Amino acid sequence: MASQDVAKYLKESHDRIFENNREWAAEQKAKDPEFFTKLSAGQEPDYLWIGCSDSRIPAEQITGLGAGEVFIHRNIANLVCNTDLNVMSVVNYAVRHLKVKHIIVCGHYGCGGVKAALTPQDMGLLNPWLRNIRDVYRLHENELDAIADESKRYDRLVELNVVEQCRNIIKTAAVQQSYATNGFPIVHGWVFGFQDGLLKDLKVDHEKMLRDIQKIYNLTQG
Ligand SMILES: [Zn+2]
Repeated sequence: MASQDVAKYLKESHDRIFENNREWAAEQKAKDPEFFTKLSAGQEPDYLWIGCSDSRIPAEQITGLGAGEVFIHRNIANLVCNTDLNVMSVVNYAVRHLKVKHIIVCGHYGCGGVKAALTPQDMGLLNPWLRNIRDVYRLHENELDAIADESKRYDRLVELNVVEQCRNIIKTAAVQQSYATNGFPIVHGWVFGFQDGLLKDLKVDHEKMLRDIQKIYNLTQG
């Protein structure tokens, strides 16, 4: 691209956001004149969504949820690491203050983060992040190594990674204590597929997972 074309592209790709935004704001107001007044009053979302940063999975659009309905955290490969202050703050705030009813970990087939973790290569700064996925592989090494087809093995690691992150959420004091007191939140593991745009429910058994976890990670005593 010639340098004047680059400059033109940069200006247009920036400006279109503001055009879209003006249109969106006008649309919302036309549908409901009180929309922004209600929005500014506060949020009470039922869902916490922890998804991958991948640009192809717009959480609100694929779930049909609107503004104010879902609290969102996204990172590479939808990981819930207990030393990540960012995701831990999100979980804590969503459970203790917003009192979300469902926590969804949503991975996706074809995840670049999971693929990178399967690549035996130094990824620099990403090494400690991808380590978490490599650890999931190690936990399920026998099952994964028994899958001959490489792309099926990769899909399965995407699923196992989601389940492991659900487990990490259940290990938190916020979730264990809220569940003991209120009966929620319930943790769910889903995977999004690009072929058909559908969400697959991995049917994580929240209750059983919690019981198993609490043998070692019981944090329900205040
Ligand atoms: Zn991804």
